[in-house]
Amino acid sequence: MRCPYCKSQDDRVVDSRSCRDGKAIRRRRECIGCTQRFTTYEYIEHAPLTVIKRDGSREPFDRVKLQKKIELACYKTAVSSDDMEELIDQVEADLGNRAEKEVPSQYIGELVMERLKNLNDVAYVRFASVYRQFKDRQDFVRELEQLAN
Ligand SMILES: [Zn+2]
Repeated sequence: MRCPYCKSQDDRVVDSRSCRDGKAIRRRRECIGCTQRFTTYEYIEHAPLTVIKRDGSREPFDRVKLQKKIELACYKTAVSSDDMEELIDQVEADLGNRAEKEVPSQYIGELVMERLKNLNDVAYVRFASVYRQFKDRQDFVRELEQLAN
C-alpha cells in the first residue's frame, strides 16, 4: 500500500482487527520510509448483481437506491437506521447466495417486504403499496385487513 505522506511502497501492519460486525478488516499500517501511520479497510467483494426491472430493462443493483426506498417507507416510524441497515444487509446476503446473478426487481421487493412485515406494519404497507402497485383502494384495504388478522 503506497504511503499517503511520502509515497513509499513499504509499510508494515501494526494492528489488524475486524469491524462492521466482522464484515470488514481494519488495518493500521506504518510506513517504513517516514513512520507515519495510516488505515486501510478490507471488504468482501460481492459478485455484481443485475436487477431486471418491471419493463424488462436491466440495471446494476444499487444499495443506495434500495435504501432510499426503504427510508421513505420507514419515515417517522419506529424503525431505526440500524434496523434498516441490517435489513438491507440481510437482503443483500440473500441475493448474494442465489446462483443467478440477474434478479427481478419484484423478487427484491418481496425480500424487503417479508422483513419489513416483522419490523413495522406502517412501513410494510407503504413499501408494499409501491412495489405491488396497488391498483385500487380495495387492494390496499385487503392488505391492511390481512395484517390485522
Ligand atoms: Zn511514508
